[in-house]
Amino acid sequence: MASEKSLAIVLRVVEFSETSCVVTLFSRDFGKIGVLAKGARRPKSPFEAALDLLAVCRIVFLRKSSDGLDLLTEAKLERRFRSASRDLGRLYCGYYLLELLRELTHQGDPHPDLFDLADHSLAAIDHGADLAPIVLWFEFAALRILGHAPRLDDCAECGGALPDLERIAFGQVAGGTLCQRCREGQRQIISVSREALCVLRKFNETSLEHGPPGLPDAVRGESRGLMQHYIAHLLGHRPRMHSYVATAAIRTAIRTGAVQVPGETSARGGGNSRPSSTP
Ligand SMILES: [Zn+2]
Repeated sequence: MASEKSLAIVLRVVEFSETSCVVTLFSRDFGKIGVLAKGARRPKSPFEAALDLLAVCRIVFLRKSSDGLDLLTEAKLERRFRSASRDLGRLYCGYYLLELLRELTHQGDPHPDLFDLADHSLAAIDHGADLAPIVLWFEFAALRILGHAPRLDDCAECGGALPDLERIAFGQVAGGTLCQRCREGQRQIISVSREALCVLRKFNETSLEHGPPGLPDAVRGESRGLMQHYIAHLLGHRPRMHSYVATAAIRTAIRTGAVQVPGETSARGGGNSRPSSTP
């Protein structure tokens, strides 16, 4: 069995036996991997706090030659997600990034640039960044890295110019904006304002070296709605964290009165820990 090392983000931890866990990690060098962490549930675990969700750690694991799980032999904590205990909005946005990494990537398909993006975005979310732009920036950049970037400058079907109108059609199936002719007969169309489209283009084009561009309060709700519909369409289902993220990410805009609370911002099933849509 070969021994491998990498930096990794903890995506999921599932109890496996009385003493062990199966851990899903997004590693910088090997992409998403599933490893068996023997002894992780013991009081004196050899991995200590390195296997908490959202933690970034340095791992060593042994590759199994057969179909079995790889075996985690070391995990040293590099960075803990500190907001977990004090800010639910940040925690939910962090969970959402994990959910996207789990759902949009394939096992054993490395994307070091996506790892760096996630690492940077999680650190920003944890350290007080405005949530709406950082989450939207992560979504656009992740989609671009994985080959799902929406087309927003011209018609995604025919490449023709977009009409000069107040509202433009975005086709989820086409994966971008549509001209008048191509939108005929298309289903799953979202109408997007010219103002929001202008902002979304900036997010779609921003390079990874630069942080997120500005996101005016007036287009926060609309941007979030469009991105969430598009991602749900790509995945074939609605991510579990979407309603929580919508609440957390546009809270600033709600506070300033720039955005009406959409029907979907009421979070489901969190007991006392439910995020409130009214700050
Ligand atoms: Zn067209």
